[in-house]
Amino acid sequence: MLDFYWLEFTTKDQPGLFWVVLYTNWCNFRCYGCHNRTLAGWDYNTWPTNKWSPQIIQIDPNKYHKKLNLEEVELALKNDFLDIVILCGWEFLIHNIKEIEETINRIKQINPSLKVRIDTNWSFPEKIKYLKEKDLVNWFAMDIKWPYWNQKYYPQLSQVIWLPEQILPKLTTKLLESIRLVDGMEYSLFRTVYYPIIQDKPYFEEIKNFTKQLKSPHSFNLFQEV
Ligand code: SF4
Repeated sequence: MLDFYWLEFTTKDQPGLFWVVLYTNWCNFRCYGCHNRTLAGWDYNTWPTNKWSPQIIQIDPNKYHKKLNLEEVELALKNDFLDIVILCGWEFLIHNIKEIEETINRIKQINPSLKVRIDTNWSFPEKIKYLKEKDLVNWFAMDIKWPYWNQKYYPQLSQVIWLPEQILPKLTTKLLESIRLVDGMEYSLFRTVYYPIIQDKPYFEEIKNFTKQLKSPHSFNLFQEV
């Protein structure tokens, strides 16, 4: 079983259903305004605008956060009222696929009636494919934070996330592949944050127009400062 650091119960994603969200550690992205950077494994002092290289500090999440013990996790999963478990990262799919598979199988042993959702930043389509083929996950929630497919928006993208510009074309392929795999699964959903540092309306229009072709719903969420 992978290590989990936080858990929370919620009904807000899908009214009428009761969920438990389990959070692991690490993320491969570096996003402006990330809510849980220390658990994602990094931090920054100030986030520069229009630059590709903010001053990133690497952090060991275990120095800042205490793991939940297995009994706590098992007790939460055994709750008779639960319908769904959400496995959340900070990027859940960053972990080794065999450990992910073992974790989901263990969860299903503990509570066979639970449906499984994974929240992902989309950068691991090969793992999404593997989990789908093994029928281990019922659906995914995926962030489409930027219109990667249109190079015109790369300058704005550099305000929202730090990624070396040269890897963006490769990432676009992964994004489109992940969307293709996830779209149309029961309850799959796509989300985009309205980053206030992006003042360019066409940037969001581009995402809106792109997502109109999808079968699964897409929503814009307000940015929440922490
Ligand atoms: S993808 Fe999510 S968890 Fe990862 S850095 Fe961005 S906001 Fe944080």
